[in-house]
Amino acid sequence: MAERLALVTGAARGIGLATTKLFLQNGWNVAMIDRDSEALSLSAKDLDGAVAFVADVSDQNQVDDVVKAVLTEFNRIDAVVNNAGVADFGPIEEHDFAVWRKVMETNLDGVFLVSQATIPALRKSRGAIVNIASISGLRASTLRIAYGTSKAGVIHLTKQQATELGEFGIRANCVCPGPVRTKLAMAVHSPEIIAAYHDAIPLNRYGSEDEIAQVIYFLCSDKASYVTGQVIASDGGFESTGVGLPALRSSN
Ligand code: NAD
Repeated sequence: MAERLALVTGAARGIGLATTKLFLQNGWNVAMIDRDSEALSLSAKDLDGAVAFVADVSDQNQVDDVVKAVLTEFNRIDAVVNNAGVADFGPIEEHDFAVWRKVMETNLDGVFLVSQATIPALRKSRGAIVNIASISGLRASTLRIAYGTSKAGVIHLTKQQATELGEFGIRANCVCPGPVRTKLAMAVHSPEIIAAYHDAIPLNRYGSEDEIAQVIYFLCSDKASYVTGQVIASDGGFESTGVGLPALRSSN
């Protein structure tokens, strides 16, 4: 069988780069997509089997062009990882509409656009989509009116995709990472937020990029061939906890 192709968005760094490397280790080729051309070419430079494509996933024309370019290069797409995302945290009243749109256009519009543009290729390969949401899409939290809502949208979008695309053999699943020390998270996680996360997470720590990538890869692989429409938190147990548990734990 010809080498399979994973299209990974937001692949220049963080979770997307770790996911790219894991696909390559498993013998796949990877189309690395990112809008940060400098970071992307640096990251792709030494990766055998990966080709870098500069595109902004929130721009429909760029998405259509880049999917065509990927198909010209590889002639197939077996998995799509919608990972590109932005975070901007702030109180509701200070979140102006421009910030709301900036978050929505990458986090939600981007997932819609890239998935839609790749459906014909995924129908041929009977491939898989994995969308990256967040624990912020599962549990509401302060300062995340746009970010949390965009990620909740990604969770439901995934279920819509699974429902409609299953008959073509396309699977769609969603991964909700807990906190990982990437550039995105460190820009919005203050020392207080970091300490609070450590307290609230049963495993008492942040996750690593590779721990998230392993779940993404599993969902794209044949090992998950009967799994679709699922939302899996890779979050150290954060989502499973109830109200007030950190205080109870620290008093023991
Ligand atoms: P990161 O900032 O390290 O990487 C994100 C990448 O996406 C960057 O290379 C950036 O250039 C690219 N990108 C952003 N907008 C883009 C666009 N419109 N078009 C193309 N590329 C774009 O972030 P990360 O932490 O690795 O985040 C990856 C995903 O994981 C995001 O969807 C994020 O919301 C989600 N997530 C991260 C965490 C965390 O704690 N790090 C937690 C939950 C969810």
